Amino acid sequence: MTTKSIAFKPANESVLDAFTGGPLAGEFVRCTKCQCCYGAESVAALNEHNQGLCMGCNGPLPGIEKATTQY
Ligand SMILES: [Zn+2]
Repeated sequence: MTTKSIAFKPANESVLDAFTGGPLAGEFVRCTKCQCCYGAESVAALNEHNQGLCMGCNGPLPGIEKATTQY
């Protein structure tokens, strides 16, 4: 059973979560349009409350579509 449905990238530098404003640890998704970053919890929250769209540009995030269609 894999949870790798979202294309997370390793956070090898200090990156802030655009949703929580806190530092991201581990893996995250970066918006290709506005470069906002979201950790796994924020991605889940965006899926639930914002149709999986980026808070910064309201565009679809890479990986989110896959994540929502997995269910
Ligand atoms: Zn964006």
